[in-house]
Amino acid sequence: MSLDGRRISIIGAGVAGLAAATALARRGGDVVVYERASALRAEGAGIQISPNGAAVLSALDAQPRALETRAIALRDHRAGAGVLRLELARRRWRHPFLLMHRGDLIDGLGQAAQAAGARFEFGVTADPAALEAELVVMAGGVHAATARQFNHDLPAASFTGQVAWRAVLPEGDAAPEAHVFMGPGRHLVSYPLPGGWRNIVAVEERAAWAAEGWDHPDEPDNLRAAFADFSPQIRAWLDAVEEVKLWGLFRHPVPTRWHDGRSVVIGDAAHPTLPFMAQGANLALEDAWVLADCLQRHDVPVALAAFQDKRRARVCRAITAANANARNYHLRRPALRLAAHTALRLGGAIAPGAALRRFDWLYGHDVTR
Ligand SMILES: Cc1cc2nc3c(=O)[nH]c(=O)nc-3n(C[C@H](O)[C@H](O)[C@H](O)COP(=O)(O)OP(=O)(O)OC[C@H]3O[C@@H](n4cnc5c(N)ncnc54)[C@H](O)[C@@H]3O)c2cc1C
Repeated sequence: MSLDGRRISIIGAGVAGLAAATALARRGGDVVVYERASALRAEGAGIQISPNGAAVLSALDAQPRALETRAIALRDHRAGAGVLRLELARRRWRHPFLLMHRGDLIDGLGQAAQAAGARFEFGVTADPAALEAELVVMAGGVHAATARQFNHDLPAASFTGQVAWRAVLPEGDAAPEAHVFMGPGRHLVSYPLPGGWRNIVAVEERAAWAAEGWDHPDEPDNLRAAFADFSPQIRAWLDAVEEVKLWGLFRHPVPTRWHDGRSVVIGDAAHPTLPFMAQGANLALEDAWVLADCLQRHDVPVALAAFQDKRRARVCRAITAANANARNYHLRRPALRLAAHTALRLGGAIAPGAALRRFDWLYGHDVTR
C-alpha cells in the first residue's frame, strides 16, 4: 500500500523528524516539516552512528560526511592503559560504525528529505492540535511536546547526579578510533571527526544539579580541573579546548503510550536516553524507518499501535544498557576497578569475538531488512 497523497505533518527537523520525512515522502506521503529554528539546525558536536543507524541512513540514501570507526578502546584514565579493544574493522555487522558532526548528519538527512519531496516551514513553533493533517509526527526532541501528553501519570525525569561537557577541538590526522577513558566517578569519550577535528564528551558525577539541554556554555577551565588527574594525552586535548558546553544528565522513564488518535511521538520526544551507549540518534533513525513501514502496511490507528509494539521493548533494552554503562565506567573503589578492568582485559584476550558478540542485538539489528 502506498501513502499516496496522505497529508502528514512532522514537528521538528532534527534527526528523527528529517529521517521520518524522507521515509514517508519516499513512500508517497504529502509531507510538511515544521521547524521552529529559522533553518536546519546544523549545531552540535560529534555524533556516533552505529551499524543499526547506518543501515537506515543507507536505505534513505542519506550520505553525511563521516569517518568509519576502526575500533573502540576502553582505557584506564591515569596512564591511558588499554583495558578492552573492540576491533570494528573486520565488519562483524553489515553496516559501518560512523563518526560525524551532528551538523553533517542534519545536512545529509535534510538533502535526502528534500530530494524525496518533503516541504519545510521554518521559523514555526508548531502546535500539534492546530495542524491540519491525517497524521502528526511529533519529533521535537526532549523539550518539546512529548509522550508526556499521552501519559499524564509518567513520573518526572530525575537528575542522575552526572553532568557532561562536550567540546570540539582542532586536530591533525588521527586514527579513526573511539576511546573511553574510565576513572573514579568520571569518564571521557573521545573520537576524531571529519575535517581535522576531535570530539570530546566528559562526564563527571556531582551532587549539584545542572540544566538539561545542549546549549549551556561553561568555562573550559572547569573541564580541565575535573580531569586534571587523567593521562597527559587527555590533558593536552583539554588544554586545546576554547569553548565548552555543559549539560545535566537526566533519566527519563519510558512512557507506555506513544500515540493518541492521529498523533505519534518518535525519537527523543518519545524516549530520551542517557548518552552512554550513544544511541539517541540511532534509535531516532530506527523509529523513523519503522513508523514509515507500519504506515505503508496499515491505516493510521493500527499502524501507530504496531509501531509502538515493534519499538518499545528494543528501546527499553537500549536505555537500560546505557544506564548500566554509567555505573560500569565510574567504579570508585580501586580494588573493584582493578578487578573489573582485569576481567575485561582477560575476557578480551581469551575470546576477542565474544566482546563484540555481546552487541549483536543492538548493532546487528537492521530495521530496513
Ligand atoms: C541543537 C542540538 C545540538 C545537539 N548536539 C548533539 C551533540 O553534539 N551530540 C549528540 O550526540 N547529540 C546531540 N544532540 C541530540 C541528538 O541530535 C538527539 O538526541 C537525537 O538525534 C534525537 O533526535 P530528535 O530528532 O529526536 O531530537 P532533536 O535532535 O532534539 O531535534 C528536535 C528538533 O525539533 C525542533 N522543535 C522542537 N519543538 C518544536 C515545535 N513545537 N515546532 C517546531 N520545531 C520544534 C527543535 O528545534 C529541533 O530542531 C543535539 C540536539 C540539538 C537540538
